[in-house]
Amino acid sequence: MYIDVLTLFPAMFTGPLTESILARAQDEKKLNITLHDLRKYGLGKYKQIDDSPYGGGAGMVMRPDVVVAAIEALTPPPLSQRERGTAHRIYFSPRGKKLTQSRVEQLAKKKHLLLLCGHYEGVDQRVIDGWIDEEISIGDYVLTGGELPAMVLIDAIARQIPGVLGKEESAHEESFSKALKRKKEYPHYTRPEEFRGMKVPDVLLSGHHKKIEEWRKKELW
Ligand code: SAH
Repeated sequence: MYIDVLTLFPAMFTGPLTESILARAQDEKKLNITLHDLRKYGLGKYKQIDDSPYGGGAGMVMRPDVVVAAIEALTPPPLSQRERGTAHRIYFSPRGKKLTQSRVEQLAKKKHLLLLCGHYEGVDQRVIDGWIDEEISIGDYVLTGGELPAMVLIDAIARQIPGVLGKEESAHEESFSKALKRKKEYPHYTRPEEFRGMKVPDVLLSGHHKKIEEWRKKELW
C-alpha cells in the first residue's frame, strides 16, 4: 500500500509513524508512506498557501492553485512509480462521511491513497469538487487540522493489511469486525487471577472452550 500525504505540517507525523506497529510495517515495506510539504508549492517570497475567504468572515482558506499544484505534482505518478496506479484521493473534513470499520476495510484494499490534510478553515471548495474522490470525517467535532485524522486513518488501515499485525495481534476477531458481527468485543483478563479483591470470571479459568466461547459471545454488545 502506497500512501501520499499532503500536509502543511509533516513534522506532526513523527511519533505515530515512527513507533511500534506502524514503524515496523514501513520497515517491512508493507506500508509506504511519503509526506509532502504543501508549503513547497506556496506562492511568492513568503510561500503563501492561504488567503481570506470570499464573502468575508474570519479565518483563512487554503488556495486552490497551491493545493492543486501539489496534487498534480503527484498524479499521474512518475514513471518509476506507475505500479502504484492512480491514487484514491481523500480530503479530511468535518463535512465528510463518518469513518467506520467497514470503510476502513474497503480502503485497505486500495493500492494507493492520497490524503489531503486541511488546516485553518479548510481548502477552497473547487479543490474538493475537481480533485477529491471522497471526504472523510473522523467524528462530529472540529480539530485544528487534517493531520490527526490522517494518522487515525493510516493506523486503522495498517492493521488491516495482511502481515502487519503479528499473530498475537490479529485483526480478525475484534470490535466492529465481521467475525464479531460488527459488535464491540468481549472484555479481556490476564494474570494475576485475583487483583485487589477482583477476580477473573470463573468460566475463563475453566479451560472449557465451548463455555468460554459462549461467555464471550454473550459479552459482545
Ligand atoms: N471550517 C471547518 C473546520 C476547519 S478545521 C468547518 O467548520 O467545518 C481545519 C481542518 O481540520 C479541516 O480542513 C479538516 O481537514 C480538518 N478536520 C477538522 N475536524 C475534522 C474531523 N472531525 N474530521 C476530519 N477532518 C477534520
